[in-house]
Amino acid sequence: MQHQNVSQYVIVGGGTAGWMTAALLSKVLPQSSVNITLVESPDRPSVGVGEATVPSFVDFVRLLGINEQEFIASTAATFKLGIRFSDWLQKGHSYWHPFGNVGARIDGQSFFQQWLNARQAGLQNEYTDFSPSARMAEKQRFFVPEPAKPNNLSRMGYAYHFDAQRVADFLCEYATSRGVTHKREHIETVNVDSKLGTIAGLTTASGNEIGGEFFIDCSGDKALLLGKTLGVAFESWQQYLPANGAIVAQSEKSLSLPPYTESIAEPMGWRWRIPLQNRVGNGLVFCDEYCSVEQATAYFLDCLKDSVVTEPRHLRFETGRRQLFWEKNCVAIGLSSGFLEPLESTGIYLIMRGVLNLAKLLPSLPACQATTSEYNRLMATEYENIRDFIVLHYCLSDRDDSPFWQSWQHRELPESLQKKLALYNTRGVLIHNELDLFASDSWHAVLAGMGVLPRGMDPLVEKTNLSELVKLLQKFDYSLNHSVEQLFHHEDFLARYAPG
Ligand SMILES: Cc1cc2nc3c(=O)[nH]c(=O)nc-3n(C[C@H](O)[C@H](O)[C@H](O)COP(=O)(O)OP(=O)(O)OC[C@H]3O[C@@H](n4cnc5c(N)ncnc54)[C@H](O)[C@@H]3O)c2cc1C
Repeated sequence: MQHQNVSQYVIVGGGTAGWMTAALLSKVLPQSSVNITLVESPDRPSVGVGEATVPSFVDFVRLLGINEQEFIASTAATFKLGIRFSDWLQKGHSYWHPFGNVGARIDGQSFFQQWLNARQAGLQNEYTDFSPSARMAEKQRFFVPEPAKPNNLSRMGYAYHFDAQRVADFLCEYATSRGVTHKREHIETVNVDSKLGTIAGLTTASGNEIGGEFFIDCSGDKALLLGKTLGVAFESWQQYLPANGAIVAQSEKSLSLPPYTESIAEPMGWRWRIPLQNRVGNGLVFCDEYCSVEQATAYFLDCLKDSVVTEPRHLRFETGRRQLFWEKNCVAIGLSSGFLEPLESTGIYLIMRGVLNLAKLLPSLPACQATTSEYNRLMATEYENIRDFIVLHYCLSDRDDSPFWQSWQHRELPESLQKKLALYNTRGVLIHNELDLFASDSWHAVLAGMGVLPRGMDPLVEKTNLSELVKLLQKFDYSLNHSVEQLFHHEDFLARYAPG
């Protein structure tokens, strides 16, 4: 059968997902032969809370050809070197999940294994002491590595914190200047082709008809097209991740500007703090089985260090994903495709994967089943990998000071995570999942950070000379520390790099 390229795309929704999709499609599709329309409701605001990212977002900005300095200055962004987790193992304990690499292979063996080896010989350092990003975060320093000038900090990784509304505005400008048509209309009805069961068009509240060949559902958690209209069911993962709400509020800019997200475990869940150039984003994730919205709000406001500048908002959510991400002539990207709590800032990453996979597997007319199936397989894998990594943070906790934390002592774990932990516990080997956003350095950072070390080691590292290994790591530690001390403080770096 002859397949034809789609030439009319309609994106429903103007939140982070809608505008990221419009921006990338306008970059990769030929403006001369493809029409892209984005429709957003003037009455329904976007959720506007996705403010922390992972390093792949830096690549996304580069892929769009956007100047980093301009992006940072326009979106009140700050740099993020990772996440500091406090009180997750027990109160008073903290650890880092830094971006980038931790150490480097020694004698051809993994750094984690060599670190385990050296600890047995008396090395005192934590695993993430050998992460350039963690050391910089600790001292609140920053620089952007130059590929032409490698040094002992080059293996750091970074992402951004930003103002979600400003990012949507920035990408709106980017996409509309590349030919995307922007309509501010509320969609009242989604019309279905009675013969094919595909989406035929949209009718707006003012009676306008919007036609198209392929529809991208970025309408938020209600999933107006894929869920409500095409009836693709939601698969709940609440048994694995019970949190189902968040209280969010912005507070005044704080004096210090840490280049990392803070995640603090609390009796009913956890709390985040995201520092931006002009304000701080805060939120408390909780489960209403253990704490009412009123109790959560009062607790949250009590915890905030800085004065609140917006009224606290309650957002309800359910963890899980759509059973299919692409059905007929519709793909869901963003909250319409699923939700994972923002513990590792993965919502925007999943949007990016959704739109990059779509750009790689472009739709055709008639639809190609192999393309749709592959898209669905890729996105399901991404979601499941991240789900397991998030569960990991909770299930290793020793906390039992509240019913919420006690519930983690007998909660079912996904089978894939059970298998991963069982293998790790023997000799520290990790099963590498296809498409896992989180590389083994990340898994090791959380496992070691939560005090979970394997019973044994890879026998190959036992061949390394131990006293030389310890000396090498001590030298490495010293040189990292020294190099970090030479860097600008994050705030000073930002002021020079992206003033405005
Ligand atoms: C508490 C919380 C914290 C989060 N923190 C992070 C984080 O730190 N990092 C991260 O990566 N992700 C985070 N996320 C996820 C992130 O917020 C979302 O992935 C991101 O905002 C994408 O949202 P969206 O564009 O899919 O939906 P929305 O922002 O809800 O946008 C939906 C759009 O659809 C439009 N729409 C809806 N109905 C209609 C209609 N009938 N007609 C026309 N238009 C319509 C709306 O007007 C709106 O423009 C967080 C999520 C929550 C809930």
